[in-house]
Amino acid sequence: MEMDTIIEPFRIKSVEPIQLTSRAEREQMIQDAHYNLFNLHADDVIIDLLTDSGTSAMSAAQWAGLMQGDESYAGSPSYFRFEEAVKDLMPFEHVIPTHQGRAAERILMGLVAGPDVKIPSNTHFDTTRANIEATGAEAIDLVVDAGHVPDEEHPFKGNINLDRLEALLQEEGDRVPLVMLTVTNNTGGGQPVSMANIRGAKALCNEHGVPLFLDACRFAENAYFIKQREDGYGDHSVKAIVREMFSHADGMTMSAKKDALVNIGGWLALDHDTWARKARNQLILTEGFPTYGGLAGRDLEAIAVGLQEIVDEDYLEYRMASTRYLGEALTDLGVPIIRPVGGHAVYIDAKSLLPHIPPLDYPAQSLAVALYVTGGIRGVEIGSVMFGRQPDGSEEPADQELLRLAIPRRVYTQSHVDYVIECFEALVGRKDALCGYEITEEPPQLRHFTAHFRPQEPGAVHHETDAPAEAS
Ligand SMILES: *Cc1c(COP(=O)(O)O)cnc(C)c1O
Repeated sequence: MEMDTIIEPFRIKSVEPIQLTSRAEREQMIQDAHYNLFNLHADDVIIDLLTDSGTSAMSAAQWAGLMQGDESYAGSPSYFRFEEAVKDLMPFEHVIPTHQGRAAERILMGLVAGPDVKIPSNTHFDTTRANIEATGAEAIDLVVDAGHVPDEEHPFKGNINLDRLEALLQEEGDRVPLVMLTVTNNTGGGQPVSMANIRGAKALCNEHGVPLFLDACRFAENAYFIKQREDGYGDHSVKAIVREMFSHADGMTMSAKKDALVNIGGWLALDHDTWARKARNQLILTEGFPTYGGLAGRDLEAIAVGLQEIVDEDYLEYRMASTRYLGEALTDLGVPIIRPVGGHAVYIDAKSLLPHIPPLDYPAQSLAVALYVTGGIRGVEIGSVMFGRQPDGSEEPADQELLRLAIPRRVYTQSHVDYVIECFEALVGRKDALCGYEITEEPPQLRHFTAHFRPQEPGAVHHETDAPAEAS
């Protein structure tokens, strides 16, 4: 482009009203939700940055695609259009649709994991880890050291530590049925993995006869980072980079709710014939026939179109610019974030923003509640609430205490983001008054979705209202 301003490369044809709420209303609603933002009614959220998963705006072409959806139980043409679109980017032999990413993970882990098994990754996403642990296997995170240091600038902080991977494969390779790489590394801050690192992991896997799988939810964002940051890729098309990434892998799991620009869907793709046969048998048991896998034919059509749109470089330039815009503004306000800014989200380092709240008093949860009360903005805690509970029921502080602000694809405009920035400006001034939280109720697994919380100083959530705070 000749101009410097990076614009949203789309116009808006259909709008959804946002319901505005007052601070007093939000104080009541978050209390009623037991201070868990997953319990809020989405209507009561002004800017919803809970997740970029399933929240993308579909294009006119995708909506048109829905009408082409063929709902035949078996052999639907929509399946074949979906399969062709997947293979155009990810040339695996077998493409098995699922209702979302975790279903692909559950089926894959059901085949390969189990007691005594170890599955390494750069960093496992929470559902991947849970599906591994549910089989009795161990999920091992081997991200490079820079991935643990929030403010260390590094172009590929999502890389796996190849030395540690090699050591694991040498010592216990017979217990490792596959190696995973999460691209981009969601839990680690949406940080990319370099092509050199994918290649290096594949070389180690080959030496030990272990397949490499990509947890590929944000493959297009990862490819765009490679194009921008890795030597030798600047003049490759994103599509060519995507194809090379997958040429180094033996399979993938995918949540189409991310970089396929749809609201539901996923798939498992792989070359291994026996695993694929077993996976399809499992699929029939719990998801559906292999040509729909828990999805409607119209969903498969929307994915097929979304996969063409996601590798559009004008889209990806805008996508990265909008995430960076928020991250840079927060940095200017003195809010510590994971640097450099990742692809789909800005991750605030709540441990350094709120040093007066110890990790097991959940500083990022405190920040999430305060941000909702301040401006109706919903982010998500990625810290000791999400990861602190150990398989044996004990509690350990997580590696980092983060508040993630995920940016839905093609949904919010720059003025929405400016509003978020203004809310942070207000919050930063009174951050010392925020208090810790304790959990009053929790399920045994994935507790962050349903846990109930209580502020340690009930007045702290309400202290800024003009009206006297009600005792709670
Ligand atoms: C979202 C996500 C998943 C799980 O996908 P769902 O569609 O939510 O089940 C797995 N891995 C990563 C990296 C993700 O971001």
